[in-house]
Amino acid sequence: MFSAGTIHRKLKYQAAVDAGAVGFLICGPLPDSTVAGSSGRGSEHGIPAMGIGRDTAALLARDSKGRRVVRMVIETSEAPAEVRNLVFDMPGNAHEWVVLSAHIDGHDLAQSAIDNASGLAVVLAVARSLSASTASSQRGLRLALFNAEEWALTGSAQYVSELTQRERDSIVLNVNVDSVGVGSKLTALNSGFRAIEPFLLSQAEQARVPLGLYRPLQMNSDHGNFAIAGIPAFRLVAGFNDFAAATRFVLTAEDTRDKLNADALYRAFRLTRQIVASALSAPSAEVSAWRYPK
Ligand SMILES: [Zn+2]
Repeated sequence: MFSAGTIHRKLKYQAAVDAGAVGFLICGPLPDSTVAGSSGRGSEHGIPAMGIGRDTAALLARDSKGRRVVRMVIETSEAPAEVRNLVFDMPGNAHEWVVLSAHIDGHDLAQSAIDNASGLAVVLAVARSLSASTASSQRGLRLALFNAEEWALTGSAQYVSELTQRERDSIVLNVNVDSVGVGSKLTALNSGFRAIEPFLLSQAEQARVPLGLYRPLQMNSDHGNFAIAGIPAFRLVAGFNDFAAATRFVLTAEDTRDKLNADALYRAFRLTRQIVASALSAPSAEVSAWRYPK
C-alpha cells in the first residue's frame, strides 16, 4: 500500500459500491491472514466488507468455469464510542507552531508496532529532546497524538475542522510520522507542497539520512487533513516503493515489534529531530513561502 501506484482501499470500496456490489473483499499481502483497515463507509448504510488472505483470494479466483459462488457471513457489533486526541503545546516566542504528530490508535489483530508505535516512539523522543529549547525558539512545538486515524482519519479531521482560520495560519508545518523503523529508506509524502522539498532535502543532508520525496497528496494518514486545509504537511514513512520492506505487514497479524529495526528507528528519529528543530527556527520569509505555490 505504500507506493506511488497505490489505489487506497476507500476508493476501491467506493468503486465496488458504485458498481452495485453487495459485498466487498480485499486481499492482504499475507497467505493466510486477514487484513484490517476501515472500508471508508461514512454515515450511509454501506455494504459488508472483509479483508482476506492470499490463499482465500486464490480459492475465489475466476477459472474456466467462471466465478465461484460463496456465502459471506460477517458478525459485527457497532456502538458509540469516545476517544481523545492528546495535544501538548511547548510555546516558542511567536504565536506560530510546528505540529509534530503521530496517531496512537491501531488494530487489535497484532501489536500495531510498525503502524504506529514506531511513529509514536519517534515523536515522543523528538519532543523530549527539543523540550528544553522551544522556549528560546521562534516557534512553538505542538505535539499532537491523534486518535481514530485508522477510522478514516477521523481524529485529525475533527481537530483541523475545529481550528479557526487564524489558528490554521499559525501552523507553519505539520510533520506526521507514521510507520517507520523498518526498511532501508525514508520518504516524505509532501502533499503537493513542493516549496518544502528543498528544505526537507537540506535537512536530510545535514542529518545524513537518505530521504526520498513523493509529491502528490496521499490521504493515507493525518497529514492529509492538514494539507487539504492549506497547511504545509508531510508524512514520513518507511519502505515506500520498496515491496520487500516490512511495511507490507502493516494492518496484518504480522505487525509485531520484532519487525522493527533499532537502526532504522534511530534514523527516523534523527531526521525528524533535524527537520523539526530547523522548522522551529527557520527564517519567516522561508517558512511563509512553504504555503505557496501549492
Ligand atoms: Zn498509520
